[in-house]
Amino acid sequence: MKNAALLKDLADCASPETLLAAILKHYPQLTVPIDVEAIARSAGIAEFRDLDVDGATSTLMADIAKTQGIISVAAGFSAPRRRFAIAHQLGHFLLKAQRGDRQCTSRDLAENRRDTPHRKEEMQANRFAAGLLMPKPLFASFVADLGKPAIAHLPTLAAAYRVTLEAAVSRYADLTQTTCAFAFIKDGTVRLTRPSRSFPALSVRSGDPAPAAVGSTAPKEETAWFPADVRDWLSIARDVRQPRLAFQTSRKANGFQLVMLYVDAAAERRADEEAEKLANERPRFGR
Ligand SMILES: [Zn+2]
Repeated sequence: MKNAALLKDLADCASPETLLAAILKHYPQLTVPIDVEAIARSAGIAEFRDLDVDGATSTLMADIAKTQGIISVAAGFSAPRRRFAIAHQLGHFLLKAQRGDRQCTSRDLAENRRDTPHRKEEMQANRFAAGLLMPKPLFASFVADLGKPAIAHLPTLAAAYRVTLEAAVSRYADLTQTTCAFAFIKDGTVRLTRPSRSFPALSVRSGDPAPAAVGSTAPKEETAWFPADVRDWLSIARDVRQPRLAFQTSRKANGFQLVMLYVDAAAERRADEEAEKLANERPRFGR
């Protein structure tokens, strides 16, 4: 059922963030997992269909003025992927500057670059989808309640919000206050990296072989933090003190592995202060 008051507010919004703020204002009592179909219906989506178009994983059909839309999703999608695809197409539908007829691929649904107009639109739809399925205030307090960072929190978050592990990891990296990064590895090759804002520049890119150390941990050792070799992961200038890096990893039977890298920012600050103090205490010559 369309919600006229919500639609009026949404009409004034031009970015994923303003759209999300308007939706949260109208649904202050949201609980997880978010009922994405109910929200989509209240915003003008009339119907959800199964998709049989080759090459596309989800589509949006809307009238020119985008007053009404139909979202279709590949019939074989898991519930978490289906929910993300619906939220993504709702983003295309509500972002005023974007066309209302879309055929999106799996690549589009993972896009986070903005270097072409097409990629930028896909990235905006993904930002909207992540923010709708994992609203910042709910997600942040959920993460805080989980306690000290641990790789085991990621599948917990994915299950609670009914999103894919990739979606939960990306949102976590975007919102966390901690200094961490994630790498998805498949059969020994890095597929995807997701650093948090404060994480130092990664030297590992998608397509690179995974550092050997992550392959040598036993599958059951998920809860332990191992020291990571900074040279395996970071591009750090030679004259800079290297941070102490730790990692956890979890492995699945299908050759898939997730790695979480972590820097204890408070400990690094203390070490920096200590190094500075030592430098100042050193006797100075030539005076
Ligand atoms: Zn799209």
